[in-house]
Amino acid sequence: MSMRIGYGFDSHAFKAGVPLVIGGLKIEHDEGLAGHSDGDVLLHAITDALLGAVSAGDIGSFFPPSDPRWKNAASSIFLATALEEIAIAGYRIVNIDTVLVLAAPKIGPISGELRESVAELLHVSPRDVGIKAKTPEGMNLDHVAMAHATVLLESIDVTVGPERMSAVAETDAEIDGVVESLVGGTRDFSALGRKLPGFDTDDLT
Ligand SMILES: [Zn+2]
Repeated sequence: MSMRIGYGFDSHAFKAGVPLVIGGLKIEHDEGLAGHSDGDVLLHAITDALLGAVSAGDIGSFFPPSDPRWKNAASSIFLATALEEIAIAGYRIVNIDTVLVLAAPKIGPISGELRESVAELLHVSPRDVGIKAKTPEGMNLDHVAMAHATVLLESIDVTVGPERMSAVAETDAEIDGVVESLVGGTRDFSALGRKLPGFDTDDLT
């Protein structure tokens, strides 16, 4: 088994008159995040971490801001593409960890909901998603939201699949043999390639 690590960072300025969407969750706030898409700073950082882990480029190479198709797009589309890329590369998520840096709104009261939203979009358990929130102390960046994300991936063990499949195929062949001999009315168990003491229902499971 091989493992890969990925890291992503993103930032967006706050802007009046747009909804605030973080981690795929609509959050009650008087400002949203400016951006070509929905400005979901957290999903953008996670998308970049996933793409980076399999050396597949970055969010801008897949979804250039110059392309009008991505205007106001839901960032879950970007995340889904990154998940496809890691699957194509033969990996799956072990866990992710993130840090949100923003002065407001307070993330504490919605942290559970946020974790569940991100976990659902990533098709992983909320236990495998870390979301920590910090205020930008001493940075003079109260009108900016930033997100950092790290992901750990493990290779999908391809030897498990084919072995299981051949085991199933063998069993299917045996079942076919039994069914054939029963339907044919011959009860000829030599069709199974081995001698059986008699009909045993266990062979049909
Ligand atoms: Zn972004």
